[in-house]
Amino acid sequence: MWLRHATGVAESLLGLAATRSGVTLHPTPTTLDCAACGDTVTEAGYLPAVERDDGYEPSPADAVCGACGFTALGTAGCAPELDDVTDPATADTLLYVRATDDGVDVVRSKA
Ligand SMILES: [Zn+2]
Repeated sequence: MWLRHATGVAESLLGLAATRSGVTLHPTPTTLDCAACGDTVTEAGYLPAVERDDGYEPSPADAVCGACGFTALGTAGCAPELDDVTDPATADTLLYVRATDDGVDVVRSKA
């Protein structure tokens, strides 16, 4: 019983987050592996995506974890730009995402 309740809370929280950021991923990746170090992204990371009418189509193969984004790809300890992570011809937006138990949640988009 408590499990169903907790799921309902998580769903309402996710709905709230989606409403606030206005960003939807199609499809939503359940996990991301960092293209730079190969580790699974367990906290924050960067995910290139193509903007569509109904949300964003992500390119999980080019995702990077937050640490690599700053140290390996970004310039002088700054967050990476889209063309640091992937070929700008294949994606038009770099999303800052957070891995959650329910999949990948978009924190903000950066055109
Ligand atoms: Zn990494």
